[in-house]
Amino acid sequence: MPEEAGEQLGLRTLEDISALILQSHDLQETLDNIVNLVAKRMSSDVCSIYLLEEDGETLRLHATRGLSRLSVGITMKISEGLTGLVVEQRGVVATDNAPRHPRYKYFRKTKEEKVLSFLGVPFFERDTPMGVLVIQNREARTFTPQEISAVSTIAWQISSIVSNAKLLDSVRKKEEERAFFAAEVDRLKKSGVLKEGGRPARKSPSSAALTGIGISPGFALGKVSILHHRGPTEEAVLERVRPRAEELNMFQQALEKARIHTIYMEKRMGEILSEADAAIFHSHLMILEDRGFIAKITALIEDGLGAHRAVNQVVEAYVSAFARMEDPYLRERSADMEDIGRRICDALNGHSSHRERLREERIIVARELLPSDLAIMDHGKVIGIATEKGNQNAHSAIMARALGIPAVFGVEGLLQQVGVRSEVVVDGNSGCVYVNPDHSVKQEYVRLQGEFDQKQRALEEIRDLPACTPDGCTVSLLANIGLLSDIKVAHLHGAEGVGLYRTEFPFMTRSSLPTRQVQASVYRKVLEGFPDLPVHIRTLDIGGDKGLSYFPHPKEDNPFLGWRSMRLSLDREDILREQLAAILIASASGKCHLMFPMISGVDEVRRIKAILSQVKDELTREGRSFDPEIGFGVMVELPAAILVIDMLVKEVDYVSIGTNDLIQYTLACDRNNPRVKKWYDPYHPAVLHSIKKVADAAAGAGKPASLCGEMAGEPINAVLLMGLGLRCFSLSAPNIPRVKEAVRRVSLQKAREIGDRVLAMESAQSIREYLEAAQRELGL
Ligand code: PEP
Ligand code: MG
Repeated sequence: MPEEAGEQLGLRTLEDISALILQSHDLQETLDNIVNLVAKRMSSDVCSIYLLEEDGETLRLHATRGLSRLSVGITMKISEGLTGLVVEQRGVVATDNAPRHPRYKYFRKTKEEKVLSFLGVPFFERDTPMGVLVIQNREARTFTPQEISAVSTIAWQISSIVSNAKLLDSVRKKEEERAFFAAEVDRLKKSGVLKEGGRPARKSPSSAALTGIGISPGFALGKVSILHHRGPTEEAVLERVRPRAEELNMFQQALEKARIHTIYMEKRMGEILSEADAAIFHSHLMILEDRGFIAKITALIEDGLGAHRAVNQVVEAYVSAFARMEDPYLRERSADMEDIGRRICDALNGHSSHRERLREERIIVARELLPSDLAIMDHGKVIGIATEKGNQNAHSAIMARALGIPAVFGVEGLLQQVGVRSEVVVDGNSGCVYVNPDHSVKQEYVRLQGEFDQKQRALEEIRDLPACTPDGCTVSLLANIGLLSDIKVAHLHGAEGVGLYRTEFPFMTRSSLPTRQVQASVYRKVLEGFPDLPVHIRTLDIGGDKGLSYFPHPKEDNPFLGWRSMRLSLDREDILREQLAAILIASASGKCHLMFPMISGVDEVRRIKAILSQVKDELTREGRSFDPEIGFGVMVELPAAILVIDMLVKEVDYVSIGTNDLIQYTLACDRNNPRVKKWYDPYHPAVLHSIKKVADAAAGAGKPASLCGEMAGEPINAVLLMGLGLRCFSLSAPNIPRVKEAVRRVSLQKAREIGDRVLAMESAQSIREYLEAAQRELGL
């Protein structure tokens, strides 16, 4: 793979994958989208994602691009095949001749006989293998270290996507279950089995219960507005063909108007939603500018067809080509083509758009809802959507979800049942649409809607509320991030800044060391993403389990005890100086703090300070502006640092405890080795006493102390850590609301009581049992 392509692949794929997290609302959809994206970017014939079942021994194929679709769901033991070997070895397996590999096993259902090369990369949830990302090609392909590194980075990102999607999925399933039971109750009420207050349920004469696909959760009850699309063919049929030059001119002008209209919609959606959602219209714009598309229409006009007819003919050809596609995602693109065609035809007719002017709140009912319909509507007045066509992947579905409008698509016979005076219930959770519902159904939905709104309000409220205990102790909840797209995810979950920005990512997603300018622009974007909020940028932390494909790393027997992190940075001062200069240059754009990983003592800190001061001098000489008072902090992740913590805190502005490493180094227990997993225990008294020692030392010196390891992501752990004296946590953003809820529920006094009890205990097992009981008691 050429260098540029490697860089592109890593960065673009990661950015796109992050966009998928926001767009996909269930795990399957997310995985399907990822395999399609990665297969395309890697130019591979096959891309598959296998997830490890709960037993830790069975792998199940969850999504594939390239293998037989029937094979989705097949299972295999980790003792079989090359994919199993990836999990067993907990490392990459790559071969250009898979059938010759001693561990090769052919799985009939996959129909993979024509596949020769294999690249399998594991991904982990914390330290437990979670699944394998597999890339296969028909030809013998030698995967370069650069490609392997890019795929490993993608696999790394997939692990967090899978965790997040699983979380979302379980929330959605709970909603669906509740809606199912509610629907059951309604059904029983309607059939008269269940009576309300002894009164038989009254049935409205024209009522109907229809089902479709719930594509955006929530409930809506109200009057309808039926959206009529003028069929593009109507104009085409009535068309009087003008002289060719005139028709061509009309088409060009209509095309230009359609482009302007599309840009307007992209802008409008970008303001209302996100850039990712607005990108739908960017893809429309690309089609409107596509030479092939324009040439086909122009050729038809030159052959004597009127502009309307020519546009329709070409658009219809695209629509039916997309509609025939096997891939459901691509199939839904036919709706986008229809939308584009309609926009050009509207422009040809001199209509600006089919703007639906809603005077009051309405449920939109339509045969099909196109992205532009939704873009130009008054979203405040659209309380629900029901359509006959469309599914989860339709862009309008993605938009409805992003706008939070309950919607059901694919409801057969909808327009036959609904009239202008109808009242409708849209249940986006269960996919039900009730037309003219009777009294009992309405009542049930009013109740459900009340509950739903309450829950939504509670979540929204908590996002902007401080993480403050009932007795007034405020805790800061910041996010751990690695990619630019994490900025959005962090805000979505109410992060109050960044407690740990792992700069390995901009290094990993490139094919050579990024220059000072490239680094500075990435860091600047992160800082600009959090205006007025603190951002702690950690210097390069490679080595151990994190490598850079382009940076030769010696083979070591104990990489975690080897040339890692700050040791490498101090040996390669050139790299460190460039990074410090880049961070300093970016520091002018926000509230930037420097953070140094894997510090063992004061000597290292002083050396770093000397280098930092030289870099500052250089920048001053160059006339560059930067924050001269930039915060200077160290990560506490080695037992050595704990033992000298009183000396360390005097040297720095703040400390941040990295429990992922602290646990492994305190207990001499590889954080990635499943054999010693049971010894890798955050509740070991040595770990908890170490944390307490840091909290006390920092408090004694009047310096802030935070914790940025995975440990803080569990609500009960956050309560315990609060009790040990910590007031700032940096965690994976999706965990922030859960932790905030715990902080807001448990008093500092109770947290201290828990902390004191735990510190007095001698075994990790009894601490675990005690915390489990406390968690139940506190309802966490
Ligand atoms: C840690 O060690 O706890 C930490 C946050 O750093 P990393 O996981 O990147 O090593
Ligand atoms: Mg660490």
